[in-house]
Amino acid sequence: MATGNFLMVGAGLSGAVIGRYLAEAGHQVTVVDNRPHVGGNCHTERDEETGVMVHIYGPHIFHTDDREVWDYVNQFETFLPYKNRVKTTSLDGNGKRQVFSLPVNLHTINQFFGQTFRPGEARDFIVNDQADTSIKDPQTFEEQAMRFVGKDLYEAFFKGYTIKQWGMSPSRLPASILKRLPVRFNYDDNYFFHKYQGMPENGYTAMIARILDHPGITVKLDTEFTREMGGGFDHVFYSGPLDGYFGYSLGRLGYRTLDFERFRHDGDYQGCAVMNYGEEDVPYTRITEHKHFAPWESHDGSVCYREFSRAAEPEDIPYYPIRQVEEKALLADYVKLAEETGGVTFVGRLGTYRYLDMDVTIREALDAARGFEKSIDSGEGAPAFYASPL
Ligand code: FAD
Ligand code: UDP
Repeated sequence: MATGNFLMVGAGLSGAVIGRYLAEAGHQVTVVDNRPHVGGNCHTERDEETGVMVHIYGPHIFHTDDREVWDYVNQFETFLPYKNRVKTTSLDGNGKRQVFSLPVNLHTINQFFGQTFRPGEARDFIVNDQADTSIKDPQTFEEQAMRFVGKDLYEAFFKGYTIKQWGMSPSRLPASILKRLPVRFNYDDNYFFHKYQGMPENGYTAMIARILDHPGITVKLDTEFTREMGGGFDHVFYSGPLDGYFGYSLGRLGYRTLDFERFRHDGDYQGCAVMNYGEEDVPYTRITEHKHFAPWESHDGSVCYREFSRAAEPEDIPYYPIRQVEEKALLADYVKLAEETGGVTFVGRLGTYRYLDMDVTIREALDAARGFEKSIDSGEGAPAFYASPL
């Protein structure tokens, strides 16, 4: 098999995992990133004053059912046990502010309704007295919530938060967003239900730097990709924004961005890693306290982020793809353009305009790298996408 010279745009998980795979297969790989660090949005860095490991672009918790992906990350970094136990502050049924447990579980239900239900009783109560069972096939976020938890819990925990997070009524959002969250009729308050969950002992950047640490890989930071740059390589993998590759010539795909108000605190600010705020008139969605993401460490000081969500402007970091009907039509046009281009494969969260958790990003990166190797061996051209954005 001939060896090639390939360009990865982006030193996040997508670029690092594909780059590593191809370097191990004997190819030369150059990775460029316009940021001054590797790691993409997973980047972590210790706060100088407190020593706390800060998740610079928002908190990242690793969770997966994919054994190969779990084994993959564990090759490059020690993962220590971490369970995400999220709290939320909102109004109870009598308008009193309280702290509740998420995802909605038996504790939340009992506390909210002032009951001492056992699991079956809680289920009967939600199904018979709360849920709107006239909704047979929920399409929107709001219908999904009304169907499964009913109006009271929906309004306390989901409505205000979602309006703040997405900037629109939950009646305009797809049911799939809420389907990410379970409702439990027991006291299990683990936010995720995956088999493997943990946190990298020395942060994600250390892990991603190790993935990139291979003699076949050259990393160039503070380097903006230009399409002319691609001309010097046999193939380009692009993990930047799909519309950005084409100079936004057809218009911009909509994203939500986040503003983080970072502050220090002496001691323990909130006693947990993540505190959500369900009320619409609290302007932030949540406060995260980063030392609690590393429970094996001990720090006197603390670093917290207040998170505010808003529509991304051209100069903002694009975080959450909106994927409303308007965006989907534009997306289809960009996909067509990408498929006509040749010589470039679009990967990752921004390249395929989808919200991808880290484990899915790694899975797709491994699959893309393997697919690409096959296409080199067979002499066929590589496709624009190994995972379809549509
Ligand atoms: P990115 O990490 O975005 O990397 C792309 C890189 O390319 C960036 O460094 C960017 O600067 C660079 N780039 C872009 N354009 C150019 C250009 N023109 N020239 C040069 N460089 C360029 N996942 C989880 O599993 N658990 C979580 O708890 C979790 N929390 C999250 C919280 C937030 C707020 C967000 C936004 C995401 C979260 N994720 C989480 C998802 C996770 O961040 C992604 O799965 C992962 O970052 C995707 O990696 P990527 O390499 O595809 O993209
Ligand atoms: N959500 C909510 N209230 C909460 C937490 C989440 O309404 O306290 C909604 C919100 O719309 C969010 C979605 O559920 O976008 C998925 O939640 P998740 O925690 O998975 O959000 P993400 O990791 O995308 O920030």
